[in-house]
Amino acid sequence: MAEPLIVADGLEVRFVGHRPFADTLRRRPPPFIRAVDGVSFTVAPGEVLALVGESGCGKTTTGNLLLGLIPLSGGAVRYDGQPLADMGRREMAALRRAAQMIFQDPYESLNPRMRIGDIIAEPLRVHGVAADADDRRAKVRHALTQAGLAPAEVYENRFPFELSGGQRQRVVIAAALTLEPRLLVADEPVSMLDVSIRADILNLLRRLATDERIAIVMITHDLATVAAYADRLAVMYLGRIVEIGDTKTVLADPQHPYTRALLSVVPTTDPAARQRPQVLSGETPDPSRIPSGCRFHPRCPVAIEACKTVDPALVAIGADHEAACILVGSGPIAQRG
Ligand code: SF4
Repeated sequence: MAEPLIVADGLEVRFVGHRPFADTLRRRPPPFIRAVDGVSFTVAPGEVLALVGESGCGKTTTGNLLLGLIPLSGGAVRYDGQPLADMGRREMAALRRAAQMIFQDPYESLNPRMRIGDIIAEPLRVHGVAADADDRRAKVRHALTQAGLAPAEVYENRFPFELSGGQRQRVVIAAALTLEPRLLVADEPVSMLDVSIRADILNLLRRLATDERIAIVMITHDLATVAAYADRLAVMYLGRIVEIGDTKTVLADPQHPYTRALLSVVPTTDPAARQRPQVLSGETPDPSRIPSGCRFHPRCPVAIEACKTVDPALVAIGADHEAACILVGSGPIAQRG
């Protein structure tokens, strides 16, 4: 595996939340929220890492941390070996070019009054990276072609409303590609698209990682989405990674009860692979009231008494596969789950 481009090392985001007026009257302290709580992983050039979990698990916040968009309360993000916190203005400007975000809603991301060519040229203008108008046009056409919108001349004069949802998401990706990024953070890149065109966009991201050596962090709530496209998978629950590893290994042999529950509801066409859906009881707990011990214990179908007090750390199960559960490695999950 190549040297990592991005290293997330014990990332933490903590903040004081909103205090309802009734709590103010009762002189209760405002809630203290741990949105991200000790998240670590690496992403190498050409690699796709999927961050998977329910809403509110901290995956989008983690993506924003990688781009330096929100401040860290603890830990460090290192880009090409250099902590973001130590970067000066010039280095941050370079990072803004090299690390791009792809948002989930291509309808909201594109200015409806601008032509596609102008939308894609906008980052080049903002960062001043094109030598002249001809160079800018050449870069725009190259990005459109890279994003699968060819011939580029056909698309550059159109408006967003003239394109399908999948084509709009390709335009969003093309706009990110004009700056020749080394890192893409794709936040639910296909959740707003029809099922029939999701595979096209995911294939495009996969190809960009493989061919252009772009490191991609794909954020999604949908395990089925990532199965065929991500090299590695990190499952997040309530601000922490509870299982991380090679995608095939995690999907074939999930160790954490939460990963198993998520996988049990993924549709499959293989009757032999079908399993009884595990419906987790209750909602994801409030991040201002994280349960004691293992934070998953109130919903865990195989919890034991010790889970209420023991906070498990990630333990290695094999090469490039770790899970956070006190029963992992001891066998009882396989017997009881
Ligand atoms: Fe479930 Fe206990 Fe493992 Fe947590 S530590 S996942 S509660 S069995």
